[in-house]
Amino acid sequence: MEFNDDSVSSNVEDRRGFGPVGMGVGGIGLGGIAILIIGALLGVDPASLLSVVEQSSPPPQAHAQSRAAQPDDPQSHFAKQVLLSTERVWGAIFQQSGSTYQPPTLVLYDGATQSACGTGRAAMGPFYCPNDQKVYLDLSFFRDLQTRFHAGGNFPDAYVIAHEVGHHVQNLTGTFERLQGSGRAGAHGESSTSVRMELQADCYAGVWANHAGQGMAQISDQDIKQGLDAAAAIGDDRLQRQSQGYVAPDSFTHGSSAQRVRWFKRGIEGGDPGNCDTFSAASL
Ligand SMILES: [Zn+2]
Repeated sequence: MEFNDDSVSSNVEDRRGFGPVGMGVGGIGLGGIAILIIGALLGVDPASLLSVVEQSSPPPQAHAQSRAAQPDDPQSHFAKQVLLSTERVWGAIFQQSGSTYQPPTLVLYDGATQSACGTGRAAMGPFYCPNDQKVYLDLSFFRDLQTRFHAGGNFPDAYVIAHEVGHHVQNLTGTFERLQGSGRAGAHGESSTSVRMELQADCYAGVWANHAGQGMAQISDQDIKQGLDAAAAIGDDRLQRQSQGYVAPDSFTHGSSAQRVRWFKRGIEGGDPGNCDTFSAASL
């Protein structure tokens, strides 16, 4: 994937190079930490796990020490370009429906950092915290994508960011709130609410790819194939096979590889977020 110009988003907080900023147990109980560590071991996106512990997590802390003049390495530059393209795409989509898109902040960090949803750790993979509306990304995850999941090219990296931004869109449109109100947010299993949340974020990532490919960036068929391969590679069934050697559908949080591919495709084909209603879909 290649962008047509070099502009980048300014909604980025670069916490790299500070070590574990604001680390500490804070208000998260040991149970919460255990949940997060288990999530980390399984390699799952912890957004859903974090929602379990966020109630007891400490309030967001100011991180005034974020470095302003971090040299712009190619990976962070690309991440900022992707973020800008998500702002443009979702800005236009929200505008069409008469509302204003409030972009999330992308936090780049090393190893571990504090979020309003608890401590973020690189091993958990990228995640979105609805409490502070920030996407947390340790760029080493991009290396993992290449080595652990054999993802090719840079499109899978963009897809991962677009997926997390998809969770932000869910937050803005009230999906998180509705689910928490319904008391079903913590449920797991093959067609549980958390799987539907994840598949909708995949579909939203597809919607982004559809629009970003029209004027902002060159997205080739090869890119899309690599994105779909990555979606397949990081489906829960594959992740679980790699970490446990067997598949246990009850603990699925992201959806199977086939489901992730299907919903990403739905988004990319129509470019319409209205096609992403995983919650009323009879079959996923
Ligand atoms: Zn997710």
